[in-house]
Amino acid sequence: MIEFKQVSKHFPPSVSALSDVSFSIARGELVFLAGPSGAGKSTILKMIAAMERPSSGQVLVNGQNIAGLKSASLPYFRRNLGLILQDHALLLDRSVLANVMLPLMISGATTKDALIRANAALDRMDLADKADSFPLALSGGEQQRVAIARAIVNRPQVILADEPTAYLDRDNAKKVMDALRAFQAAGVTCIVSSHDEEFLGKAERVIYLNQGKQSQSWQSAV
Ligand code: ADP
Ligand code: ADP
Repeated sequence: MIEFKQVSKHFPPSVSALSDVSFSIARGELVFLAGPSGAGKSTILKMIAAMERPSSGQVLVNGQNIAGLKSASLPYFRRNLGLILQDHALLLDRSVLANVMLPLMISGATTKDALIRANAALDRMDLADKADSFPLALSGGEQQRVAIARAIVNRPQVILADEPTAYLDRDNAKKVMDALRAFQAAGVTCIVSSHDEEFLGKAERVIYLNQGKQSQSWQSAV
């Protein structure tokens, strides 16, 4: 479902963010991207979301080469993706419920449907009692779970999460990971960048990166 074929990414003048990276991820897999800061993990996630294009090589998502996507078709393409990125902040002047309803309203759902589905997504993230709160009144772990509820409310086929447990305590980190595992169990493909050795230790599949290159293990990545 997601395939990288000899992908390199060069940022001018001289950053080599990815060098000759190849892997393929099947539908319903939960795959971790591991490696030190600057290794290229976010760049991979952004490429899957067609937010960055490869300098060379191919990125295929559902058989479609992202280099061929026209900007007009990007919103439609991204509708199948749930993005939990580091710079995707919640809107602070809207309630938690309004934040989670937003993707549905943008994609044309009725307010009634959006309310039902946003409440279901909040319930699933164990946040039903926070629907009317504002983001700043929530703890970091709760805010991260709101971001996840917002990412999954459209029932995407793929979830991309960039360090979703960074800055969380163990309890909240575990809730976030359990939620991602539950989505995987429901058939959603999940790609998660992480530094968390406890989760990486239990992972079925980890793609290790170091300075933009794939490596065999965590040991050679740090
Ligand atoms: P990670 O997510 O593993 O921390 P990134 O994918 O964010 O790594 O970054 C990989 C490398 O590419 C880093 O050296 C980073 O500074 C560089 N980089 C990422 N995005 C840009 C950009 N837009 N312009 C220039 N350099 C970038
Ligand atoms: P409902 O079927 O009423 O939406 P669920 O408990 O099945 O209730 O799901 C709650 C929320 O979790 C959904 O609104 C959706 O946002 C998310 N969700 C559930 N299953 C999936 C799935 N397979 N893929 C993506 N998101 C899902």
